[in-house]
Amino acid sequence: MASALPITPTDPDPSFAELLAGRPHLSMHALDGLMVEGVPLHRVAALAGTPTWVTSAGALRRRARALKAALAAAGLQAGIHYAVKANTGLAVLRVLAAEGLGADVVSEGELRAARAAGIPAAAIVFSGVGKTERELRLALAEDIAQINVESAEEVEMLSALATTLGRVARVALRVNPDVDAKTHAKITTGRSENKFGVAIDDAPALYARMAALPGLEPVGVATHIGSQITSGMAAYRAAYVRLAELVQALRLAGLPVKHVDCGGGLGIPYRDEPAPSPEALAGAIKATLGGLGLPVMLEPGRWIAGPPGLLLASVVLQKQGAARRFLVLDAAMNDLVRPAMYEAWHGILPVSPVDFVAPVGPADVVGPVCETGDTFARGRAMPSLSPGALVAFLDAGAYGAAMSSTYNMRPLAAEVLVDGDRFAVVRERQSYAALLGDQRLPDWLTE
Ligand SMILES: *Cc1c(COP(=O)(O)O)cnc(C)c1O
Repeated sequence: MASALPITPTDPDPSFAELLAGRPHLSMHALDGLMVEGVPLHRVAALAGTPTWVTSAGALRRRARALKAALAAAGLQAGIHYAVKANTGLAVLRVLAAEGLGADVVSEGELRAARAAGIPAAAIVFSGVGKTERELRLALAEDIAQINVESAEEVEMLSALATTLGRVARVALRVNPDVDAKTHAKITTGRSENKFGVAIDDAPALYARMAALPGLEPVGVATHIGSQITSGMAAYRAAYVRLAELVQALRLAGLPVKHVDCGGGLGIPYRDEPAPSPEALAGAIKATLGGLGLPVMLEPGRWIAGPPGLLLASVVLQKQGAARRFLVLDAAMNDLVRPAMYEAWHGILPVSPVDFVAPVGPADVVGPVCETGDTFARGRAMPSLSPGALVAFLDAGAYGAAMSSTYNMRPLAAEVLVDGDRFAVVRERQSYAALLGDQRLPDWLTE
């Protein structure tokens, strides 16, 4: 709940200049104001209006390359499958595809998006605890690289389906390593009570079953222990040690294991919290799984797509309440839900060079939606802003646009890609015709 956000944070918030310093694709220009790469955000607003999602192609590329370099420097043979759910934009997928990244998808829609963006089927992994028969049929028809199976029931279903279709599904078994979340409260998918994967103790028997069944080719084991992991490498190491033990047990039983899928979850600093580096993750993988001599796979979402994206919004008005000052924006929780949903902190920068250096005082930054939870920040140090002033929510590229809704009948925001000094609208703002167009009134109400 946004009302639980601290009014006065324990540590002072980072200053605007400090927020800029850690984000090399952003800069403040004395005349043009806040820029993404070579593009002033006021030009983006003039073209596309607000609210608009803005993604830096350069930052996407830089992060993909940094991750590849860290894995290579650790001596790992690694394939990166970007977790599409973090940002499903076709332009984002296209940039990452050109960097040689594959895709980790969790639905038919994501599989279609990855293919539409030019990611080859041979570079696509399908994850998820409840893939439907229709989704599995499509995955088999496309002959994607790998399906990560998550239950004995799914193994049987997929074997039958593949046999019927005359296909062989390459399958990896997702295991739940039951890593201790007590000291890592945000690790929520790798505990035994979570719905994901099969218990690691059940994995050897199920893997043997996969090898025996027709229509399946077991190729490895997989895990994914959670998201926004910033607590260091302890949880990763604990999970990967268990995975390495499992692989050794499978090998002893004469079962083939071709690679290990290490999942995603690498966290990013939204405020100024310490966050692990790709080098740390590569080191943890090398130390725990390196001895197996197998290629590994990674499924990062947030780490790749989060920092390159921002949400550009306009001030509707500044309202002086009885006790507090409110900055009311034209963006709302239906666009960026993370503050309302996770009490997430996002940096908010004024775009105008004058506003950027103006005196600041505490303000609640809110949207117009009819929910108290539609609060982006409380007591944030912000200048006085006039109607129409632009602000940018930082690090909004992952789980931003992808989680947005049309609540309050608000159209989905436009999306813009910036690449050097070029930019283009890559998703039109949803029209009211589209927003209303799927609805039908039954005859008996209109007679
Ligand atoms: C969500 C998800 C990811 C990506 O998680 P991030 O925290 O964005 O890196 C990777 N693998 C699976 C199976 C997921 O469900």
